[in-house]
Amino acid sequence: MDEKKKLTTASGRPYTENEDSMTAGPRGPIMLQDYVLHEKLAHFNRERIPERVVHAKGTGAFGKFSVTGDITRYTKAKLFGKVGNSCRVFVRFSTVGGEKGSADTERDPRGFAVKFYTEDGNWDLVGNNTPVFFIKDPKKFPDFVHTQKRDPKTNLKCPTMMWDYWSLNPESLHQVMILFSNRGTPDGYRFMNGYGSHTFSMINADNERVWVKFHFKTLQGNRTLTGARAEELRGSDPDYAQRDLVEAIGKGEFPKWALKIQVMTEIQAHKLPWNPFDITKIWPHADFPLIDAGIMELNEIPANYFEDVEQSAFAPAHVVDGIGLSPDKLLQGRILAYPDAHRYRLGANYEQIPVNRPLKPAAHYQRDGMMSVMGNGGDAPNYSPNSFDKIEADPAYREPALPLEAAPADFYDRNEGDDHYSQPGDLYRKVMNDEDRKHTVMNLLSSLKGVGGPKKDEILMRQLDHFYKVDRDLAKQLAGGLGVTFPR
Ligand code: NDP
Repeated sequence: MDEKKKLTTASGRPYTENEDSMTAGPRGPIMLQDYVLHEKLAHFNRERIPERVVHAKGTGAFGKFSVTGDITRYTKAKLFGKVGNSCRVFVRFSTVGGEKGSADTERDPRGFAVKFYTEDGNWDLVGNNTPVFFIKDPKKFPDFVHTQKRDPKTNLKCPTMMWDYWSLNPESLHQVMILFSNRGTPDGYRFMNGYGSHTFSMINADNERVWVKFHFKTLQGNRTLTGARAEELRGSDPDYAQRDLVEAIGKGEFPKWALKIQVMTEIQAHKLPWNPFDITKIWPHADFPLIDAGIMELNEIPANYFEDVEQSAFAPAHVVDGIGLSPDKLLQGRILAYPDAHRYRLGANYEQIPVNRPLKPAAHYQRDGMMSVMGNGGDAPNYSPNSFDKIEADPAYREPALPLEAAPADFYDRNEGDDHYSQPGDLYRKVMNDEDRKHTVMNLLSSLKGVGGPKKDEILMRQLDHFYKVDRDLAKQLAGGLGVTFPR
């Protein structure tokens, strides 16, 4: 029989009583010296850490990634060095706009963040279940997110704010069309695709660079909820997606995704009629076909949610040798913003937390800070260069230089000459079937009907104008459903 552990204080002193406080007599006041009472209450008061400002509600699982396709002509990443290579992964799925206690079936993009624990350090692919995003310049991110959160006065979600912002930012249209299709309410996390969304790069053994997009295709098949079913589940089972993942893995039904890449050469990128680093655009499959790279299986729910899921910290800046960044402006903003958010939530040493630790111990000169718990570099030098230590910067890891256009530094209009309408139009007309289109119109109407206040007509007309440019019939149906004459 297992020997029982002794109850102790946090400092390890075996302790005798966990329910009754020490009092002056059976009815008397509590004695100040009951330290365990203080310790319990004080620790309880500090149980919460700041919730993520976006992606607060989430779930996670460990698993395995295995390489199934040879992509060594594009990347020298050690992980992809040989078909059959594998590594452990941790994945966190999430909704975006809601708070930690919000419902899982809200209409919202879903976060799809993967941490690959590779021999060359952690590679984080921090994407969503959509291949595009609402905005393309990170300067706009706080304003955009405010519109998805709560009204400053009523503290309610506010369709007027959302549609005001979207209608003033036509680059959001592609993501809005996906969001209001039934893919905006996936049937839990197992039945949806994941996308790296940004353009990244790969560098091969000859130090040649290509541009790359990452796609995780669900092998369970895409399954979505209708708007009505999602709304019903918000009340009856707010933790629907959390439950689905935990229960499936508990039963041994391990979900799997195929990782595929799209590749664009630097020459193709120059010839493209639109900016290949614009996250509001996809690369058409016909021109940039999907190439097999691997299979990811999730097979282990962490034993402790807070330890691994709440404290997990992903950053698009975490790439590994052979995989690189790109001039995608939103990606560049995220390189800065994500580690900054983690330092705020978890402290400067957040990468020492087990779920965030690289396989091989990190070697650098960062020292001290709150919660340094891995030896803090011991007695090794804490400055560089020095004459003593064994750390060397290895030039083999240098990326090829990135040629840049010679243009003056300025505030360039992000939308100058841009086409916001063709790709959402392709989605609506060519990819969706009649049933998809019917639900998209219903979902859009149910949200657009929430627009109110003195600017209601102006906002609706501006947004209908965008929908008109996507597809005339779509705009006509929406105008009919809203009971407005359009075009006026
Ligand atoms: P394809 O016909 O080759 O691919 C269409 C893609 O759309 C598939 O990946 C499909 O995913 C996905 N899809 C189906 N329904 C929806 C939906 N309601 N919301 C979002 N995605 C959906 O077309 P193209 O590559 O030429 O792209 C046409 C349009 O498809 C794009 O403008 C874009 O809106 C959308 N799309 C394109 C993607 C790309 O990377 N090329 C990725 C995702 C969407 P699945 O195969 O898993 O069912």
